[in-house]
Amino acid sequence: MEQKRVVYFATARATRWDYQYSLVARLERMLERLDLGSRIEKGEYVAIKTHFGSDGAHRIVRPVFLRKIADAVKSVGGKPFVCDTVRINGWDYLEVANQNGINPLSVGCPVILADGLFGHDSVEVPSGPILGSVRIASAIYDAPAMIVVSHCKGHIEAGYGGAIKNLAMGGVAGRHRSGDWRQARGHLHAAGPEASVLRYPELCILCLQCLHVCPVGAIAEVDGTLVVDEKKCWRCGRCERVCPENAIRLQKRGQDEFQAALAEAAKAVLSTFQPGKVVFLNFALEVQPECDCMPMADTPLVQDQGIFGGDDIVAVEQATLDAINGALPLPQSAAADRGVQPGQRVLAETLGIDGQLHVDAAAAIGLGRKEYIVVEI
Ligand code: SF4
Ligand code: SF4
Repeated sequence: MEQKRVVYFATARATRWDYQYSLVARLERMLERLDLGSRIEKGEYVAIKTHFGSDGAHRIVRPVFLRKIADAVKSVGGKPFVCDTVRINGWDYLEVANQNGINPLSVGCPVILADGLFGHDSVEVPSGPILGSVRIASAIYDAPAMIVVSHCKGHIEAGYGGAIKNLAMGGVAGRHRSGDWRQARGHLHAAGPEASVLRYPELCILCLQCLHVCPVGAIAEVDGTLVVDEKKCWRCGRCERVCPENAIRLQKRGQDEFQAALAEAAKAVLSTFQPGKVVFLNFALEVQPECDCMPMADTPLVQDQGIFGGDDIVAVEQATLDAINGALPLPQSAAADRGVQPGQRVLAETLGIDGQLHVDAAAAIGLGRKEYIVVEI
């Protein structure tokens, strides 16, 4: 029987007035334990894949942590760059990164869009039976090594957003030069050859939240009715997520299929790296219920847990998810609003969707093992 995977854990608790007890210092020690020197050749480019957040979503992995990771890469001779992929138009997304404090001055290395300023730069890679193939962002595809830095939180469709979702959605290019959403991230969300955005005018209160959140201006109001330009539409599903009346809906994959597709896409991204060249750092801090793409960030569901790290994505995800689901639900949070009680699985109960599904799917397709032991740093 294979051994349990080691998952390093740095607690968010700091019980003494001493730098060594800070989470920043614990991350530095975790990076030493992960032995980056044995994974990164001198002069090798290293992608530090994170999420830049959103205009309004400030609960991301803070720049100080990205700085320490970039410094650790440089200390072993690597050339780090911090990256994400286009979620809204590229120029605006880099401005979001800057507003959230992620820029070359703060993190000490280049900050780029891995799929280019227009989200088109990508390479097609076979994936599996659900998606067939995905287009990996070029700078991730070409990088010989990667550190996957994930802010762990809820997600309206995936139930949980950690490393698998960070890679699956965030490692795939946002757009395709042809405008075909099937050859970009929309392929993961949308179901069917057309995947239209359905509108229910009788439910619509014309609050226009969908119009404001659409990244490409595909929604317009004409004489009191919403019109969607299906050619412009990326099939991102943001309009559906913000609609308070359920009056606009993207034709999406079913829950099981979507979560299995996430695992499949993450596997495709990781297939572009040699074994041992990728490590995963999961930040279970400010665990809010929503994705960092949304134009807001709610209060955390549970207390800050800390950082989980290792080189088996499934084990790191399982350890993180267990910690979040096993923590006490916080007052003044969406968990409290839903009446989640101590002992209940916090994320799954709050969101009504179990992120365990995609962790299980990842294990089932051989991305890693769910059995782990925690080694506290
Ligand atoms: S799914 Fe909705 S928000 Fe996203 S691009 Fe299409 S119309 Fe805009
Ligand atoms: S968010 Fe919903 S209710 Fe508001 S305008 Fe759009 S479809 Fe109508």
